[in-house]
Amino acid sequence: MAEGRVDWAASLVEELRKNFLKGKTRSYEWRVGQMRRLIQMIEERESEIMQALSDDLCKSQIESFIQEISMAKESCKLVIKELKRWMKPEKAKTGLTTFPSSAEIVSEPVGVVLVISAWNYPFVLSLDPVIGAISAGNAVVLKPSEISPATSSLFAKILPEYVDTSVVRVVEGSVGETTALLEQQWDKIHYTGNSKVARIVMTAAAKHLTPVVLELGGKSPVIVDSNVNLEVAAKRITVGKWGSNNGQACIAPDYVITPKSFAPKLVDALKSTLEEFYGKDPSESKDLSRIVNSNHFKRLTNLLDDEKVSDKIVYGGQRDEKHLYIAPTILLDAPEDSLIMKEEIFGPLMCIVTVDKVEDSFDVINSKAKPLAAYLFTKDKKLEKMFVSSISAGGMLINDTTLHFANPTLPFGGVGESGIGSYHGKFSFDAFSHKKGVLYRTFGGEASARYPPFTPRKQRV
Ligand code: NAD
Repeated sequence: MAEGRVDWAASLVEELRKNFLKGKTRSYEWRVGQMRRLIQMIEERESEIMQALSDDLCKSQIESFIQEISMAKESCKLVIKELKRWMKPEKAKTGLTTFPSSAEIVSEPVGVVLVISAWNYPFVLSLDPVIGAISAGNAVVLKPSEISPATSSLFAKILPEYVDTSVVRVVEGSVGETTALLEQQWDKIHYTGNSKVARIVMTAAAKHLTPVVLELGGKSPVIVDSNVNLEVAAKRITVGKWGSNNGQACIAPDYVITPKSFAPKLVDALKSTLEEFYGKDPSESKDLSRIVNSNHFKRLTNLLDDEKVSDKIVYGGQRDEKHLYIAPTILLDAPEDSLIMKEEIFGPLMCIVTVDKVEDSFDVINSKAKPLAAYLFTKDKKLEKMFVSSISAGGMLINDTTLHFANPTLPFGGVGESGIGSYHGKFSFDAFSHKKGVLYRTFGGEASARYPPFTPRKQRV
């Protein structure tokens, strides 16, 4: 069985490579044409996409629209607007050594690429890298996550109706299928998911010297200074945490660090914002996603059942396994060696860590693996500067959470444990392109000193 799968995966890649080598994906017109078809798909199939996201995650329509559907559409539009400029060879300087000459950097497609995506934003996390791969002129296979089966099968159904299937394919499946795909020779692999599987992906890629983009996660911290506009800060933290797929987002705040003296005010502000957004009983709110499946439900309740945090819950904590519901939950001063302070939470639980003074937050963050995102709420410009210069993170945002994801002029990606490489906007085009340096010379400008025999006279030159 495993061998049959590998054969099937091998012939898929062979077919795509053959078609890629025919050259049609290279043209500007083909790439833009595919973008137009993708926009058409998003517009015509919007209600099916919303339904799939609701089936997989109980996502509210507005969240699905803003955070997935319109983001993917905007990415296509940006490619249409900018691609000519991105594809244009970039002039490079030349020096005396190569005189006379001219030089340029040419972006060429890497070839046949594999996109393996995750379940938490199953639409945009699948389509955005595919958009990047196509914009750079590649053939691409998308392997959506089996943990969001409705969106995965929707992709398998609708993508072939809109895009050029000679070079763009969807493969559904789980570990077996992904393993078979990973055994093939790709020109780039773009993986979104956890860092354990990332190591499997990178090991498989190493066999063929295939470059990878690894979009991973981690514990994204939020520092809250005591001088902030508390009402605004609480709203922005709440929407970035619980309004982002109920915390099941790679850049959702994982833990908040704040001065001890300010913590009670912050907890109160978060509690009242949660009640304002989701009501007294959030299980009745239509605006909170559910936990994706019972495995993740158990993983999260395990974090709460750790005896080290049994007396640390200051808000929430309710759960309902049948409906995969866990209430927005806040823990205060969970010990550093508790599970919840060691693992990425990826759900509706949030810890508040207290420090003597706000500057001490930097040590807390730097004692852990480099996060995908780091946030700071403050009015103090000096603290802002210190934060940017002393914390290493995939990306940063001052006085808000998660919004940097939606700014395509910024690269989106991790550092260290939170990932390798980046994408979004032009960075997606670059991620799937090889930058080829080309030096142009003519037959003039001969310098005899360059050629043997190296006579004493030439050596004096
Ligand atoms: P997941 O379970 O959907 O897995 C991701 C992909 O890996 C899936 O397509 C799956 O089929 C594949 N996979 C799983 N096991 C495999 C194996 N043994 N061999 C080969 N492939 C395998 O998603 P997940 O890992 O639960 O996603 C959550 C993690 O992803 C979190 O850590 C989160 O922070 C991170 N994440 C990062 C980003 C980002 O953009 N940086 C976005 C979303 C999620």
